[in-house]
Amino acid sequence: MSEKSCLFCRIIAGEIAGDLLHQDDKCVVLRDINPQAPLHALVIPREHLESLDDASQKDEALLGHLLRIAARVANEQDQAENGYRTVINTGAGAGQSVFHLHVHVLAGRPMHWPPG
Ligand code: 5GP
Ligand code: ZN
Repeated sequence: MSEKSCLFCRIIAGEIAGDLLHQDDKCVVLRDINPQAPLHALVIPREHLESLDDASQKDEALLGHLLRIAARVANEQDQAENGYRTVINTGAGAGQSVFHLHVHVLAGRPMHWPPG
């Protein structure tokens, strides 16, 4: 999918509205439009990478940043004490539906294991 038609690129460009929790020079954090938990945020790099599988060595610092921001958002939303889950779905078979890398941050309800 080209960046022009990528949903998350369009949200980042301001063409589509998003409920923003955080933004910096490397990423934005939005509330998921179809939340699966009381807190369901998406940490999205500004750079278009289709999935984790497309990340390379040059992206290592970016990947670390996304995880640190995920933790920060969980803490800022007062969800750290009871635990939170970070998820990266990679590929349609694993549940990825938007092919622009993102980290889900889920919290505020009991989490089960293994995930479905
Ligand atoms: P995936 O299935 O690729 O791991 O996650 C994509 C997520 O994007 C889903 O949880 C879905 O609810 C969310 N999503 C889809 N369209 C939109 C949208 O227009 N805005 C926001 N904020 N989230 C969206
Ligand atoms: Zn994109």
